Amino acid sequence: MMTTNQTNKQIAIIGGGPGGLTLALILQKHGISATVYEREAQNINAQRGGSLDIHEDSGQMALKEAGLLEPFEAIARYEGEDFRLFDKTGNVYMDERAEDGEKGGRPEIDRGTLCDLLLNALQPGTIRYGYKLAEAIALEDGQHELHFDNGVKEMVDLVIGADGAFSKLRPLLTDAKAIYSGLSMVELHMDTKEHPDQAAFNARGKVFALDEHKGILAQLNGDGMIKVYLTFTAEQDWLDTCGITFDQPKEAKKQLLEYFGDWAAPLRNYILRSNDIVLPRRIYMLPVGLKWEHKPGITLIGDAAHLMSPFAGEGVNLAMRDAAELALAIARHDDLDQAIQAYEEKMYEYSSSSAKASDDNLKLMFSENAASNLKALFDELHAEYAQ
Ligand SMILES: Cc1cc2nc3c(=O)[nH]c(=O)nc-3n(C[C@H](O)[C@H](O)[C@H](O)COP(=O)(O)OP(=O)(O)OC[C@H]3O[C@@H](n4cnc5c(N)ncnc54)[C@H](O)[C@@H]3O)c2cc1C
Repeated sequence: MMTTNQTNKQIAIIGGGPGGLTLALILQKHGISATVYEREAQNINAQRGGSLDIHEDSGQMALKEAGLLEPFEAIARYEGEDFRLFDKTGNVYMDERAEDGEKGGRPEIDRGTLCDLLLNALQPGTIRYGYKLAEAIALEDGQHELHFDNGVKEMVDLVIGADGAFSKLRPLLTDAKAIYSGLSMVELHMDTKEHPDQAAFNARGKVFALDEHKGILAQLNGDGMIKVYLTFTAEQDWLDTCGITFDQPKEAKKQLLEYFGDWAAPLRNYILRSNDIVLPRRIYMLPVGLKWEHKPGITLIGDAAHLMSPFAGEGVNLAMRDAAELALAIARHDDLDQAIQAYEEKMYEYSSSSAKASDDNLKLMFSENAASNLKALFDELHAEYAQ
């Protein structure tokens, strides 16, 4: 069993994404230092995803614990909450517009901006770039020996895997692997400044067009770019076998348009008007409700613990909530091992319901009559909320 006084412990966080950064910061707020080891040579969070809505009971709760709620509120976009839902003919199922000046519970921020906010608040030297974890070896007393690709070895009392979908630490706790969700995406980018009519169609938030087990999902970002995710129900190797020439973007876009040949013009325009960045992606998930047998000196947060498809909009929020729950548990318990167990028990409960919602939404959004089914779900949720 581990002993008291966390300030003397060597704590390593693997991964400098939103989860790892939030964890290090909240620990620091409680006088507990930790080192974040990030495989990339520098911060590249801005390149890894677009606008995120930050929920009150998770992402915002963590920002509050990190002392960053006010600075966040000063830069978050409260106007990014419009939502429009179509089928392929352009038939409108939902058209929700946030009122000017209305403060909804889900303000938006770009991933890069969020991570900059966290990074700027961390004590200098907290994060080490160019440290890719190659192997972690569990020792008998709960300590771990960490081996990095750059040749450095570290011995730590607690190692936390905040290293995302394909975590190197997860195999020390469970045999579960990230499995392909059945969805493949192609990410495109469109500049609203060059296409004001498309910007007006998109409004200030998200557009979902769903039909024929596929979708065009568009999302306005803070920099005026719209990220478009063309989403396909497909075999795992489809992106490799479909013949789309992803390395020749102009040609690839023509090929992609063929998959949406009879979709309404404003929807096809998302492809026609996008620039020449075309990024194929597969969507992976961990088994819903994953748990592991607790082991001393090691745990996981964020995608490493409960990777799910993006259709509950919870990934970043959960990573940040995990960070807050774990940091607070460490600060409150004298015994590090008891702190980890308390965190894990709580995390299993809230993350499994999000993972289930995400999986249910995935099935619904790519089902027959998806637009109509999704509207029915929203109506149900609104009715529940109104009670
Ligand atoms: C297309 C798409 C859209 C999404 N949209 C949303 C959304 O709208 N809202 C939302 O809340 N979530 C969304 N998500 C999910 C969200 O991006 C993730 O849930 C979130 O980033 C998880 O944060 P994390 O800190 O756990 O892991 P990550 O953000 O994946 O960070 C992991 C970090 O670990 C580093 N790392 C990995 N391996 C190693 C290693 N061996 N050694 C050292 N460092 C390592 C990586 O470089 C990275 O910096 C989306 C995901 C996808 C794919």
